[in-house]
Amino acid sequence: MFRRLRAKLTFMYAGLFSIALLMIGVVAYFVIADNTQKLAEQQLASTAQVFTQIWDARLDHLQDAAERTAHAQGLAAAVDTRDDAQIRARLGELRTVSNADIAFVVTHEGLIISETGASASMSPGLQMALTQSDPGPGVLRQSGELFQGAAADLPNQQGWVIAAARLGSQQMDAIRALSAIPVDATTFVRDGQRWTDGQEGADHTTLSTFIEQSLRSERDGARELRTQNEKAIALAAPLASLDGTQAVLLLRHSPSSGISPYGTLLSTLIAIGLTGVALLIAGTWFLARGITQPLSTLEAAARKLREGVYETVVVGTKDELSRVAESFNAMTAAIRERERRITQLAFHDSETRLPNRVALERKLNAAARPERLYLAAIGVDRFAHVRGAIGYALAGELVRQLGARLAHLAPNAPMARLSSDVLGVAFIATSEADALKRAHALIANLEQSVSLGEQIVDVQVTIGIAQPGGKEETSSAMIERASIALDQTRQRGQKAGMYDEAAYGDPARTLSLMGEMRRALETGAIYLAHQPKYNFRTGRIDSAETLVRWRHPTRGNIAPDLFVPMAEETGHIRALTEWVLERAIADQLAFKAAGHPIKLAVNISARLLSDNEFARHATALARQAPHQLCFEITETAVIDNPVAALENIEMFAAAGVHIAIDDYGAGLSSLAYLKQLPAHELKIDKLFIQNITMSQRDALLVRSTIDLAHGLGMALTAEGVETPAAFALLASMNCDLAQGYLISRPVSVDELVALLNDERRLQFYKQTALGAPPQLAATPQQPKQA
Ligand code: C2E
Ligand code: CA
Ligand code: CA
Repeated sequence: MFRRLRAKLTFMYAGLFSIALLMIGVVAYFVIADNTQKLAEQQLASTAQVFTQIWDARLDHLQDAAERTAHAQGLAAAVDTRDDAQIRARLGELRTVSNADIAFVVTHEGLIISETGASASMSPGLQMALTQSDPGPGVLRQSGELFQGAAADLPNQQGWVIAAARLGSQQMDAIRALSAIPVDATTFVRDGQRWTDGQEGADHTTLSTFIEQSLRSERDGARELRTQNEKAIALAAPLASLDGTQAVLLLRHSPSSGISPYGTLLSTLIAIGLTGVALLIAGTWFLARGITQPLSTLEAAARKLREGVYETVVVGTKDELSRVAESFNAMTAAIRERERRITQLAFHDSETRLPNRVALERKLNAAARPERLYLAAIGVDRFAHVRGAIGYALAGELVRQLGARLAHLAPNAPMARLSSDVLGVAFIATSEADALKRAHALIANLEQSVSLGEQIVDVQVTIGIAQPGGKEETSSAMIERASIALDQTRQRGQKAGMYDEAAYGDPARTLSLMGEMRRALETGAIYLAHQPKYNFRTGRIDSAETLVRWRHPTRGNIAPDLFVPMAEETGHIRALTEWVLERAIADQLAFKAAGHPIKLAVNISARLLSDNEFARHATALARQAPHQLCFEITETAVIDNPVAALENIEMFAAAGVHIAIDDYGAGLSSLAYLKQLPAHELKIDKLFIQNITMSQRDALLVRSTIDLAHGLGMALTAEGVETPAAFALLASMNCDLAQGYLISRPVSVDELVALLNDERRLQFYKQTALGAPPQLAATPQQPKQA
């Protein structure tokens, strides 16, 4: 009913007060009304009493005067002699003395002699009264008028002397004057069945009935009289009669006028009551404000709290409300603190306290994302291995320090720890080239050794970059693209690279591609290519690396960099590798048949090296090879699971298979493992060869690697030889073998046989190798992309 507490309080208080007041008022009214009635009754009674006394005194006076006139000598003689003049004179005296209005003599014959002369008419009532008894004074009706009269006997039964005073308005006014309260006095006479005052009022019947009942009633005194218009108190006093006329005096008092002394009291009470109510409303309204205002403040604060706005409530009082406000403030503070902690937990990585992926996603909210915003995923290379070496706690600290470095390098850039070994950072760049430039600058700054307690750890990172996505792209999808870009960059053997949509494809297609692999192996869509290695020592091509190719019927050529890792991840790599091995042995037979018994090198995935079953199967196959076989492995494969890998490598070596360490220098290198491996060949990664003629540092690295290989009793193969300059430089460095586009791209058996038969070509290689070594850092030659 009430939306505001204040209105409710005010209404309730004012309402209760009004009810109490009303009750007092009602009681007061009834007490007053009752008192008034009693007062009026008493007043009427006493008025009636006084009137009766006056009436009686007046009658006595009339009686006395009449008696005296009757016994005066003069009148009796005059009546006797019918001396009318004398009679009139006496009657005149009588009237004057008695203060009567009329005076007359009634002879015993019934003749009336009045002052004005003899009159024949006399009411039958009077005549009867005079003749039958000795009537006392009382009401007398004469010529239609009412009188108060007294009769005295004349001596010797000569007749009667009568004096009467008119009962008119004057008398009635006199009665009114007698009363302390306003009364209405009227004389009623019985007229047959009815009582009448000579006027025909509307409530005449009621009055007549009232008088009749009053006279019949045992109880005298005032009683209630209800007429059509009002409720009055009335008293009917019977009047003595001279001539038998029945008359009453009716005294009436109407309370509406009679209440007046109390009326003022009542109206004063009402006025006080109304003022009280008004004051109470104002007071309650004001008081309620003292309660409701702090409550409203609290309510507003609570509403804001619900919306996440924290507000301190100030209540000016020192009561329960202020304590509620204090509790509220304490609660708000506690909630704020808890929320801060929850936010901290939700948006930060607990290990490093760096912002987490969710925090970055929020910052990269698509709506607020600037147009040229690139996102870099910075991966710590070989993190699992580093963690294995230094422990989880220090590895976490390493990432934390890298995060701190990143935050320092790009203070306002949104950044986060995306996964255990990947940090993410968003930055603005003008183009992809610009983004890559920035990434390389970041790498240079991040790849500085980190000191962890006592230890100094060298860090290497790879950066994958997601190009600005459309406004429809979610921030989570953008982070995913950056993560994929990181994987792609690592696969390409680069330090920094962009996300390659075409290379990624989508996971659904990956699965379908793997489903197609088995058939592709049968139909010949998957086939082998062999890339020859030039032997500087013999000046001939006596070995080649076998590489797998897939010419997909609808997707065209699929790079092994794409499907080989897929096969590794989906468990197809063993079948693929065994197939490659079988085919390589078959091809070797073909080469031998063509007069070229060459050594073939097959790539063995890291994953397979610790697979004992594969190892046994591969060894069995290798024993069937018509000529020398070689397995190219990477050091990472050994580092990840040294015991099993080393065992299997020993087994291969024991079966007469040569071991080549592939991609040396591209990944993590451990001299400890290098020393343990029964390898024949070290293949330095093409990364170093491609810059060998431009970078003195790379040249130096290659030279020392050649020395290292020789020191360990291994032959060194340079991969990715593309230019005659690099070729000649490598020859001068005492390199053993060269592999690259300069010599040949990976080709079919027939093509390779043709090359091997091409003496002019071999002659060209020899000459190039013998050619004067080109100047270091001479005209840089851009390598063609494979
Ligand atoms: P990889 O073992 O390092 O193979 C050498 C890659 O370098 C080959 O790429 C080859 O085509 C490329 N290459 C050769 N000479 C040059 C050059 O002068 N310049 C440049 N830029 N590149 C050159 P390919 O065939 O695309 O193979 C890529 C990778 O796929 C291989 O790297 C190897 O890791 C993997 N792979 C290829 N075939 C097999 C296989 O049969 N089994 C397994 N497990 N992996 C394979
Ligand atoms: Ca290889
Ligand atoms: Ca390689």
